[in-house]
Amino acid sequence: MTATADFVIAGAGHNSLITAAYLAAAGYSCAIVDARAIPGGGATTEELFPGYHVDTCSTGHTLIQVNPLIRNDELGLVSKYGLSYIDPEPVEVVAFPDGETLTMSLDLDATCAEIARFSERDAEAYRRVISEYEEIKRILGATRFRPVGHGPTAAQLLADHPRAGTWTRRSMMSARDLILHEFESPHARAFMAWMASQTAVPIDGAGTGLLAYQIVSGRQARSWSIPAGGSGRLIDALVGYLSALGATIECDVVVDELLLEDGRCIGVRAEDGREWRARLGVISTIHVKHLVDMAPAEAWGADFTYGVETYHPGVPFFGGYFATSAPVEFATHAGPRSAVSSGCAGWLEDQALHLRAVSNGEFVESDTWVLVATPTLADPGRAPDGHHTVKMVTFNAYDPGGGPDKWEAMKDAHLDRQLEHLRRFAPGFTDDVILDRVVKSPVDVEAQNRHMFHGAPHGGDRSIAFTEAQRPVPGWAQHRMPIDGLYQTGGTTHPGGSITGAPGRNAAMVVLEDLGRDPSEVMEVT
Ligand SMILES: Cc1cc2nc3c(=O)[nH]c(=O)nc-3n(C[C@H](O)[C@H](O)[C@H](O)COP(=O)(O)OP(=O)(O)OC[C@H]3O[C@@H](n4cnc5c(N)ncnc54)[C@H](O)[C@@H]3O)c2cc1C
Repeated sequence: MTATADFVIAGAGHNSLITAAYLAAAGYSCAIVDARAIPGGGATTEELFPGYHVDTCSTGHTLIQVNPLIRNDELGLVSKYGLSYIDPEPVEVVAFPDGETLTMSLDLDATCAEIARFSERDAEAYRRVISEYEEIKRILGATRFRPVGHGPTAAQLLADHPRAGTWTRRSMMSARDLILHEFESPHARAFMAWMASQTAVPIDGAGTGLLAYQIVSGRQARSWSIPAGGSGRLIDALVGYLSALGATIECDVVVDELLLEDGRCIGVRAEDGREWRARLGVISTIHVKHLVDMAPAEAWGADFTYGVETYHPGVPFFGGYFATSAPVEFATHAGPRSAVSSGCAGWLEDQALHLRAVSNGEFVESDTWVLVATPTLADPGRAPDGHHTVKMVTFNAYDPGGGPDKWEAMKDAHLDRQLEHLRRFAPGFTDDVILDRVVKSPVDVEAQNRHMFHGAPHGGDRSIAFTEAQRPVPGWAQHRMPIDGLYQTGGTTHPGGSITGAPGRNAAMVVLEDLGRDPSEVMEVT
């Protein structure tokens, strides 16, 4: 079987669907294929247990809120296709090794009052971090939502800032060092490190400094926004939009070869031999570590293949998923508290060491960074009355020692250890309230979505060596791949993984320009 369209889209994660949606808006036909049985990649909500609709990967969609796709509702996903967001309150409840907790609220004064329990000075430092970030928020936002090369880099913009010296230094430091500099109490430091670690970038690395500002500021401004009904509602809206414009989406299609003709990519071939041919171009969200095996080495060139060989896959995730009859309630100084986003934070140095060790491929037995997502607290319709979906996420190595296959025999015991740890702070989360559970090691995360290479969900490490013009490979950071007609989007491209929609929208901009079209016909261009 052979199908033909203007564009073939290999992979139906939220980014590639966004690229397709803008191309469809510009009048091009799109044929989309995905290896999984459902579209959406890391933005899916699945009935893991009967009656319980679980976000199998992402839950929080904070970062995409500032994408003009959502902010300006450019394609009508909100006004016409049923997408809506909830901003949960409280924002976070985080427990520390000594049993203390910190509750973050949308009310800045309330958050500061919580921090002041540990240090008045740190409460002021927190207020300063939030207000100072306002100075550069738009600069960083602008660089995220335009393709590399379409304007000055973040470093160039910071260099033009009235406080260039301060911000350039901060952007080059590590988040760990900045937190140590700004905060004095172990609790505030641990909280800031827990927030900075959310994108799974080792926070002791040079160039991670702004993570200490970015994530906490976004949360303080608008919480951990979740789509009403589940992460997959973003995909439903995109699929609705694309279907209305005649795009096709076929699942259970594992692409394993790029079709080349006269050095140009003219389509894809699936494992089962089916082909999809493109008149104008192929958009890929296949991980670059796999993509290079889908065409002869000479088609890529030595520079590109070297860049992919040396590309760091990033920090893998380990997940526990539960159907429960009660939420996770932390014992706090103000009584039991729960939040859609909560967790357990080790002390700052332990968190930094943990992330670094996992990034280096080492198995870590005890967790210093645990995220607990309970979206049903704010969106009860996802589970039967009074019941909840709970997801625990931690970082760990793809190979726990002795080979990745070893995970299968040890993953349940590993989750039990995490539960034991969580129960120190949330004693009511007993086996009696857990009705069912599924555990996913990094190997399972990869098996579920091959774009999550080695179980790392962000399309590759986002340390300084692999950001902006370096992502995925220096020279090929503008979505155009070395093979003519082939474009890359998704987490392996600027600005990386998470639910931002930025790589998807940026890729559409580049493709439209290559077609001689003005992207501002379908999107805001700044
Ligand atoms: C447990 C967990 C929790 C997370 N929580 C959050 C969160 O709360 N907030 C957040 O912002 N991010 C979160 N993430 C990360 C987020 O899910 C990803 O970074 C994001 O989904 C990346 O989007 P993408 O569009 O780049 O690619 P993906 O969502 O990975 O989609 C890529 C698609 O390409 C398909 N594909 C790949 N190779 C092929 C092939 N050869 N043939 C056909 N199809 C192919 C895949 O099947 C997949 O559907 C989480 C991830 C995990 C695992």
